Amino acid sequence: FSSVEITQYLLERIKQLDPQLNSFITITESLAMEQAKAADERRAQGKYHELLGVPIAHKDLFCTQGVRTSCGSKMLDNFIAPYNATVVQKLINAGCVTLGKTNLDEFAMGSSNESSYYGPVKNPWDQTRVPGGSSGGAAAAVAARLTPASTGTDTGGSIRQPAAFNGVTGIKPTYGRVSRWGMIAYASSLDQGGPIARTAEDCALLLLAIAGFDQKDSTCVNEPVPDYYTFLDKKLTGLKVGLPKEFFSQGLDSRIASLIDNAVKELQKLGAEVKEISLTNMEQAIPAYYVIAPAEASSNLSRFDGARFGYRCDNPKDLQDMYTRSRTEGFGAEVRRRILVGTYALSAGYYDAYYLQAQKIRRLIKNDFVRAFNEVDVIFCPTTPNPAWKLGEKVGDPVAQYLEDVYTITANLAGLPALSMPIGFADGLPVGGQLLAPYFEEGRLLNVAHQYQ
Ligand code: GLN
Repeated sequence: FSSVEITQYLLERIKQLDPQLNSFITITESLAMEQAKAADERRAQGKYHELLGVPIAHKDLFCTQGVRTSCGSKMLDNFIAPYNATVVQKLINAGCVTLGKTNLDEFAMGSSNESSYYGPVKNPWDQTRVPGGSSGGAAAAVAARLTPASTGTDTGGSIRQPAAFNGVTGIKPTYGRVSRWGMIAYASSLDQGGPIARTAEDCALLLLAIAGFDQKDSTCVNEPVPDYYTFLDKKLTGLKVGLPKEFFSQGLDSRIASLIDNAVKELQKLGAEVKEISLTNMEQAIPAYYVIAPAEASSNLSRFDGARFGYRCDNPKDLQDMYTRSRTEGFGAEVRRRILVGTYALSAGYYDAYYLQAQKIRRLIKNDFVRAFNEVDVIFCPTTPNPAWKLGEKVGDPVAQYLEDVYTITANLAGLPALSMPIGFADGLPVGGQLLAPYFEEGRLLNVAHQYQ
């Protein structure tokens, strides 16, 4: 097939099915057709890249030149990005075709995609349920075969949790592996972009295309990028897999626990050696994350002031009124809540009590992992404590939703790479298993997931 044929087919499929799912905020039809034609021409000239002519969707917080980049917010509903994020540009350079921009929780704050200004996304496996978040549109679009892949971002699980809820594969790389330039910031010390696709093999190709040093992001690490594809076929004989006992506590759904047991047996059949490990400070992860992430968000979101870009209220009386009303009207409830929590945690007199404490816990959590990786090569655990919940079920209860992030946020606090892969179904709902590896060992995660798949 030519790229034009595949692109036309997918655009048609999106038009037919997405009015139900709501996984796209913007469909970039003419851009897609233009890029597909160019890809076919490049191919006719004998140029080759694994991703040449492959359609992809971008989470709508990656800046895409000339296209609305909304971050799921009324605040940026009118924002046309003047440049491409590095991730987007690298995929364009590889020859990918941009189908559109996928739905997400507003400013990536949430685990259910229900905080989006553009309405919730429905889980394609059961349309009465959430797709997870914040990259809910990205994962649902891949699961519904509206796109072979999507970019996502993960601050506290936003690639892995929706991947788990939709039965697809997603990888959050090591902090600093992928450039954050042009990725609208939520919590800068935790944010990392990565791919969501059907398989680890597809994720390997995509990660190879987007990883690497970028001068425009001062936290991007200047380490060579290995060819992830060459890791995939390595046998797992002798691989040491750690099962952290703290991740198998009371809160875990019994159906997920038994799917994890089966997956562990499968890994053993493939030659892995399994042992129990302990990550002693995990209980503190949620409180630490929900201080650090809002604190950084409150600072990052101060740029949305109604003056330079985005939403501005009608007829402001004076400057103060413009700031206040633009931000009150432009941000949704969850974003406002986090700005308030974060501003409080950073304010003089409370900084030591909250932010500094949270940073100390963060270090302890990192140390737990460093110790664990002296004993094992990878860690395996559930991605989520429960399968996808009902739409609306946790809307009025933010803390209940925060608790669902218990297994994913630790990788972000420590900066480690982590992957979620499908391991089965609980009463028809997809379940994910999570793998974590030492810094910059994305290849190992993709290898284990590929062998398992
Ligand atoms: N659910 C978490 C939060 O709301 C993580 C979101 C994310 O990774 N962007 O902060």
